[in-house]
Amino acid sequence: MVRGLGWIAVLGVATASLLPLRERLDKAHVALAFLLVVLLAAADGGRRLGLAVAGAAFLLFNWFFLPPYATLAIADPFDWFVLLAFLATSVVASHLFHRVQREADDAQARARELGELSALGEEAMRAPRAESALLAVTQALERTLRVAVCRVHIMRESFEAPSERPFETITSSDHDITPEVAEQIRVVVAGDTGLATLEGGLTRVLPYGPRTLATTLGRDSAVRMVFPLRARGAPIGALEVTDRYGIAIDIARERLLAAITYFAALGADRLRLERAAAHVDALRESDRLKNAVLASVSHDLRTPLTTIKALAHDLGALGDERTEIIEQEADRLNRFVSGILDVSRLTSGAFPLALAIVPVDDLVSATLQQVEGAFGTRQVVARLGADEPLLVGRFDLTHSVRIVVNLLENARKYSPEESPIELSAVRRGVWLELAVADRGPGVPSHEADRIFEPLYRPDGTRPDVGSAGLGLAIARGLAEAQHGTLTYAARSGGGSVFTLRLPAVDLTELVMSVSAPRTS
Ligand code: ADP
Repeated sequence: MVRGLGWIAVLGVATASLLPLRERLDKAHVALAFLLVVLLAAADGGRRLGLAVAGAAFLLFNWFFLPPYATLAIADPFDWFVLLAFLATSVVASHLFHRVQREADDAQARARELGELSALGEEAMRAPRAESALLAVTQALERTLRVAVCRVHIMRESFEAPSERPFETITSSDHDITPEVAEQIRVVVAGDTGLATLEGGLTRVLPYGPRTLATTLGRDSAVRMVFPLRARGAPIGALEVTDRYGIAIDIARERLLAAITYFAALGADRLRLERAAAHVDALRESDRLKNAVLASVSHDLRTPLTTIKALAHDLGALGDERTEIIEQEADRLNRFVSGILDVSRLTSGAFPLALAIVPVDDLVSATLQQVEGAFGTRQVVARLGADEPLLVGRFDLTHSVRIVVNLLENARKYSPEESPIELSAVRRGVWLELAVADRGPGVPSHEADRIFEPLYRPDGTRPDVGSAGLGLAIARGLAEAQHGTLTYAARSGGGSVFTLRLPAVDLTELVMSVSAPRTS
């Protein structure tokens, strides 16, 4: 307003200075002088001011400089032309000025935006921790969108410590989260769509995509907006902006919001990855500690156990029969302790292995030899595919015998006395498959994987079977240490089949490696 009056005053001064020279001046001189004032006014105050000054100049020009003077009438029809040409030039010039100015403003705003974004990107990259990067993002949004509160909510992972809220909030301004906001965050993450709370309290869904905000909201003013944050195709949290006086959104701000939301999603993803890595580290460390404790405890237990057994044996020689029970129990404890030590060594990868090329026949015969005494009359049927060529594999003979012996012992333990146990060996692709099959009750499907976990014994296992649930865990660990597998399957017709797979070796490969000249 003040500026407008100022330019009208300038126009007045121009008129006053031109007036004494009216008779000597051409109309074009006057028109040019007025046009200059109009252009300067448009440059200074924009299109509206330019047009207002042009209107005023039009009247002054007509009143003072076109005969008959001091009226708005015009005597010479050519003067109409001069006057209209003046008006048209002023309007077009004001308009052009306005456009140029708007483009310059736009360019400036974009440069500012770009500056903001690159500063934010740099800040986020340099931040040593994901939390500080996210904090920088929220502050940048508060600054650029001029909103009171900006918060990033990140969904917690299942391994994180349980908390009253399913998300964690990163903000520099306000930590108070109402149940309404918590519910909106839940909806946004589950539905993968934005929500806006309008001034009257109404909630509106915000479709996802560029330039949809301003059109969706129209004249309504949002006091809170919550958007999903996505990483690798899935929503991982939400970005919330709140201002109880209304959040102004235009195209430029929407563009900025989209860019900063992207930064926020990157930051949130980085935070989650950092947490996951820390969790894995903690697990690894606790595993290492557990293994170290197990190794030292089991080692320290074995020495007194040996002493107890030796003393019991000596006492037994004096005629006390109860010492036999002490010896049996000491043996059982010793087996348990060795088993625990084996599991801990296998899981930490510190298990000595002697991989060699061995015929399966050797493995089967060594196994049968070992169980012979303990099995008594219990029948074990070995099938070795008589027509097949010699089966050869790359494995550790001692460890593999231990695995198959364990499987045979389990089969004996868990299947009826009169049913035979079958042991077969075949070549299947790159594997040698050794299967131990029995006609026992089998393993319920929901326990099929768990029986391979250390110390796991299914509900209802008889306490007197003399086992601790370590056998299969050790057997699988030993199989995997030799690059093989150990699996369970229900046997058709009832019972169990445990299959040990070990890497097979081709005989032709073997012959070639034996006859190939040595290079040195
Ligand atoms: P355990 O020393 O207690 O037998 P294992 O690790 O060898 O421990 O076996 C774990 C569990 O798997 C056993 O308690 C048993 O319930 C089940 N299991 C193992 N082998 C068989 C089998 N041949 N038939 C049925 N159940 C079996």
